[in-house]
Amino acid sequence: MVAGFAEHLKTLYACRLCPNVFGAPVTGAVAGAKLMLVGQAPGPHEVEDRRPFAYTAGKRLFGWFERFGVDESQFRSRVHMCAVIRCFPGRDPKSGGDRVPNAEEIANCAAHLDREIQLLVPKLVVAVGTLAAQVLIGESELRRIVGKKHRAERAGHKFDVVVLPHPSGRSTWLNKEENRALLDRSLELIAAHAAWRATFRRRK
Ligand code: SF4
Repeated sequence: MVAGFAEHLKTLYACRLCPNVFGAPVTGAVAGAKLMLVGQAPGPHEVEDRRPFAYTAGKRLFGWFERFGVDESQFRSRVHMCAVIRCFPGRDPKSGGDRVPNAEEIANCAAHLDREIQLLVPKLVVAVGTLAAQVLIGESELRRIVGKKHRAERAGHKFDVVVLPHPSGRSTWLNKEENRALLDRSLELIAAHAAWRATFRRRK
């Protein structure tokens, strides 16, 4: 295990810094991963299951990678799956969906993401959804950022970022054919990246 990773996880899972979130922190921790995926925040199913993307959005997300011969269990065992915040923010009474984390929660939880970047030194980070994109590359307009490879710097390390739209069934962004083409381009960029090839070369 990467030195300090176990200690980091202990700190993360014990964290109760934010007063308005629910349940224990969730992260799909993979020691030594060179590929990270960052989502927005866990939902209630993820808290119950103790792993990210445990429900319908996960089915769609993992389905996207099957075209490259990688199934859900392979993905989960090789890719460090985390999020902008690690606890369930609760429901948004207006939208009926999950509440978007606020600035204080994002700032509180940034220390966990920074520590993971310092420990894992990922070559590629996949940002899932607009909040993860905003946090990692400072932009969130999907039409402008999906289908491209970005360069980011955080916690003293430089790495590539490829953005995917959130796979939630609530999102209508993928209803347009041109947006689905951008998604395909992002997936191709991920699968062609050296970090992906190194990650899944070892899977036999
Ligand atoms: S959201 Fe992050 S900072 Fe806030 S309590 Fe959960 S783990 Fe801690």
